Amino acid sequence: MYEMRTPTKAMPARLVAVYLLSASVAALIGCDSTDSDPPAVDGGIQWVRSAAEYKALSLQAYQAAAEDLQKFLDDKSWSALPDQENAEDLPVAIIADIDETTVSNVEFQATFARPFANHKLDSWNAANKATPVPGMLEFTRKARALDVEVFYVTNRPCEPKRGSDDPCPQKSVTLQDLREAGIETDATHVSLSNERPDWDREKVVRRNHIAKTHRVIMLFGDDLSDFVACARVSPKKPCTEAASTASRNKLTYDHSDYWGEGWYMMPNPMHGSWTSAVAIAPGASADADH
Ligand SMILES: [Mg+2]
Repeated sequence: MYEMRTPTKAMPARLVAVYLLSASVAALIGCDSTDSDPPAVDGGIQWVRSAAEYKALSLQAYQAAAEDLQKFLDDKSWSALPDQENAEDLPVAIIADIDETTVSNVEFQATFARPFANHKLDSWNAANKATPVPGMLEFTRKARALDVEVFYVTNRPCEPKRGSDDPCPQKSVTLQDLREAGIETDATHVSLSNERPDWDREKVVRRNHIAKTHRVIMLFGDDLSDFVACARVSPKKPCTEAASTASRNKLTYDHSDYWGEGWYMMPNPMHGSWTSAVAIAPGASADADH
């Protein structure tokens, strides 16, 4: 938030000029837009787009995770999934979200015509080169060099598209995005919501599916639902109740031992299931996590 002092007689002319310029910028940011204005860019988007602090937080998460890799490989009793058991002899895997965790969509967030719709993000992804989140590539190379498989679990949905017979044209766009960001992977390591009948937006279903064949040593996401079940306002099986700000905070503290220790949260102040829980995002779709 802006906190500005009123210019005083004692303030040198140079500072008064800076004050007036700052006030003009603040007024511009705060003004109402009209149809002819460029899209409003809110503080969260500005921060991801411009702030060194955003990059530092992303690097901090990925570099801390890189330091933890060997420890979790060596401890065969370790799983980042609290309910996973008897996984000692399974191949090792990491589960990562895609949007704002692996690739950054900040330029989409800054420019798309509100309200959000999945097909808008899909079209933008198809037309624009994906950008890796800072630190992601270096971490992924290190993990793969240690024979860790990376599974990408995204809530980009499979949806029919006019002119396409493919039941999930978004999957090839997503694989192409990962390739553009420097990640070569395949269809078996990427899952979209609705890709199978029981794979809805509640990601715990897909995490549990991966846990049948792999010991999951780390989770990466930008949304609480990338880590725990029942963090979303729109409950899906096995969840039965809508999440609230209070229930989401409780889930976070109930799992406090995992943060920075197998679970790595990436910074995203732009969108997510938190916005639905506090209902502060006019025009936002319910649980706008992807
Ligand atoms: Mg995401």
